Amino acid sequence: MIPRWHILLGAIFTGIIWFFIPTLNWVYLLTIFLASVLIDLDHYFCAAYKIKKLSLLRCLDYYTALNKKHEIEKKRGIRQKGDFHIFHTVEFHTLIAILSYFSLYFFFIFIGMIFHSLCDLFWLLSKDRIYLREYFFFNQIKDKF
Ligand SMILES: [Zn+2]
Repeated sequence: MIPRWHILLGAIFTGIIWFFIPTLNWVYLLTIFLASVLIDLDHYFCAAYKIKKLSLLRCLDYYTALNKKHEIEKKRGIRQKGDFHIFHTVEFHTLIAILSYFSLYFFFIFIGMIFHSLCDLFWLLSKDRIYLREYFFFNQIKDKF
């Protein structure tokens, strides 16, 4: 899912939480919103590493080209995993869930991350691209050895 949809859906999700819990501290609301968007920073880090440039626009170009490549491969029946994004793994979500025991901020980060990941899952399912992502950090590590 592209960043602008995450920004819009994250804002709506945060607004819904604010509607149901109007007394919730605005810092926690901001934390949920930022977590629902900034989890995609791993996409930026991955692209910047691959193209060896820090330019956000170049990284967006990288994903535009990569999406075209994936579409062509899908039409040819090729279904390979795409880039690895560590913040989107089950293990990273679990780590944040554990840290939320120690700090309420991590709990709200976790809420934002779960919302983001659910949006990604629905998007990947709707586009028949669920196979592109590695969901487990340890699978990624295992495949390297
Ligand atoms: Zn994402």
